[in-house]
Amino acid sequence: MRLQITVILTDIIHLLPDNIANQIAAGEVIQRPGSAVKELLENAVDAGADQIRLIINDAGKSLVQVIDNGKGMSETDARMAFERHATSKITNIDDLFRIRTMGFRGEALASIAAVAQVELKTKREEDHSGTYIEIENSKVVKQEPVAVNKGTSIAMKNLFFNVPARRNFLKSNTAELRHIVDEFVRVAMAFPDIFFSLQSNGQEVFHLEKGSLKQRIVQILGNSYNAKLVSVQEQTDYLNIMGFVGKPETAKKTRGDQYIFVNNRFIKSAYLHHAIMNAFADLIPKDSFPMYALFIDLDPAQLDINVHPTKQEIKFEDDKIVYAFVNSAVKHALAQFSITPTLDFDLDPNIQRLDAVSKPVSDEQRNSTASSSLYQTFSQKNQAHFIERSSNLTHWKDLYETPSVPQPAKETEVLHKDYEAEAPMLQLHQTYIVVQDNKGFLLVHQQSAHERILYERYVRAIEGRPIATQQSLFPATIELSPSDAVLLQELLPDMKELGYQLEAFGNNTFIIQGTPADVISGNEKMAIENILEQYKHFSNDLKYSRREKLLRSMCLQNAIKAGTILSAKEMQGLVADLFACEVPNATPNGKPTYMTFSREEMDKMFGR
Ligand code: ADP
Ligand code: MG
Repeated sequence: MRLQITVILTDIIHLLPDNIANQIAAGEVIQRPGSAVKELLENAVDAGADQIRLIINDAGKSLVQVIDNGKGMSETDARMAFERHATSKITNIDDLFRIRTMGFRGEALASIAAVAQVELKTKREEDHSGTYIEIENSKVVKQEPVAVNKGTSIAMKNLFFNVPARRNFLKSNTAELRHIVDEFVRVAMAFPDIFFSLQSNGQEVFHLEKGSLKQRIVQILGNSYNAKLVSVQEQTDYLNIMGFVGKPETAKKTRGDQYIFVNNRFIKSAYLHHAIMNAFADLIPKDSFPMYALFIDLDPAQLDINVHPTKQEIKFEDDKIVYAFVNSAVKHALAQFSITPTLDFDLDPNIQRLDAVSKPVSDEQRNSTASSSLYQTFSQKNQAHFIERSSNLTHWKDLYETPSVPQPAKETEVLHKDYEAEAPMLQLHQTYIVVQDNKGFLLVHQQSAHERILYERYVRAIEGRPIATQQSLFPATIELSPSDAVLLQELLPDMKELGYQLEAFGNNTFIIQGTPADVISGNEKMAIENILEQYKHFSNDLKYSRREKLLRSMCLQNAIKAGTILSAKEMQGLVADLFACEVPNATPNGKPTYMTFSREEMDKMFGR
């Protein structure tokens, strides 16, 4: 008899249950509360709403809710909406090239339902009652009729409650809130004819009435852009561009106010960013960024938006044409702004759009605009329009060029207390202070020295020796963009210890009650704006705490700049303060504050 050995080879492949498959797929679409914000806002836009409210708690970690007055869903559609690949927006592959909606992949709601608890209320105009559905782990746990107005409300609660590993990956509330604000702004900017509001922990952060694009930009980015926007508008058979760029003088050292939309979809494109930067090349200092919000419209067949799950990257059929077009359109706009008077922002937006207002005034100018048919010239290099520098920019180079720091001398000694405090000091190039000491002389860089002095003073202040505040007799107010207001609110307690007494006044406005003594009166507003600007510059720097970033921003902002004439007394005070520092020889960023030149070396050089 033969012995039979049977090995049972079990099959090992199986289908994942829906909720797990959805959880995995959700990883691509819903990475953080901000991603849900984007998807839910886009759905509300696609539903034709003209009022959209976003409510978040705990930076979206406990609640993201979007309420719209759009077309709503039937009872069956409301259930279907949460299935994977369930969409009302496309039916076949060709539709992908006719897309006019923000969504089409049918994944967002399925993903959200897989990683959070969801409550949906929705009603169509024609239905008597609406539908309420509660979902958890991709399963409907409750459904019942509900009395609601036309439209849809989707609340996403406790994101990643069932995927703790991903919950742990979420960043601080501040960071997540910033993502949410970014997403909110990108959608709100693209649809100025929709009312948007954003409420965070019960406080209304944005309240954006319907209006023109220009009004929307100013509402979002702040009043400082009022009357500082240049309209960009070109139309061709192939593509259109419209929108605004900030006048050159509004360029900032930090990125943040740059927006490109293609068919109303916010996209990230280093390539088109370059096209715009290039148009500004000689008008703004290097390392600074102009504001822009540009809308490119073209036949959806000329694009592939389906190259990325969040659709922030797209592919143009012919990206060189788009580059050249964007570049010339911006150059053209900038050239026009230097010859046309600025339009008053408060004009009725409809009047502003009239040709007679928005086009150059004289016949000659009108003809030249008409004949400079962009489409024909934009691809010819250097053919774009002559751009005059506005007069106040003539000296920008002098203003922005940072003084070069000399190489450290060979034997740099750490402490030089032996200089003669009363000795006459000499200022060179309004930047360097020559100080004689008993070994030779020192060359002190006034700005770097002051950065060090302030840094140590601020550190002491934070450690419990608050800086004296000089009270303003006539307190100024400062109005910020909503996102800057959120930021400032966060920094208020620390700023108080550093001598800035600010009080929130609602509506993104703060009253400046007092500032540290070294802030020149009249400059309070600018000082605070610059500190915020500097702070944002550090904002992605993980190695510094919030306080440290604030300290460093304040040093950079408040230090005496190179190019400032100092009196003998000021020089003496500065040098004395420098050498009273714990680490006098370098700025907080590690640049040298002074160099030593010894007599011995000098003698040697002169052959003595
Ligand atoms: P997509 O937007 O890609 O179609 P979603 O998962 O975001 O996929 O939404 C699925 C479907 O649910 C949409 O196609 C739409 O029909 C419906 N839907 C989602 N949100 C809303 C809303 N706020 N109002 C009306 N219908 C909605
Ligand atoms: Mg969608």
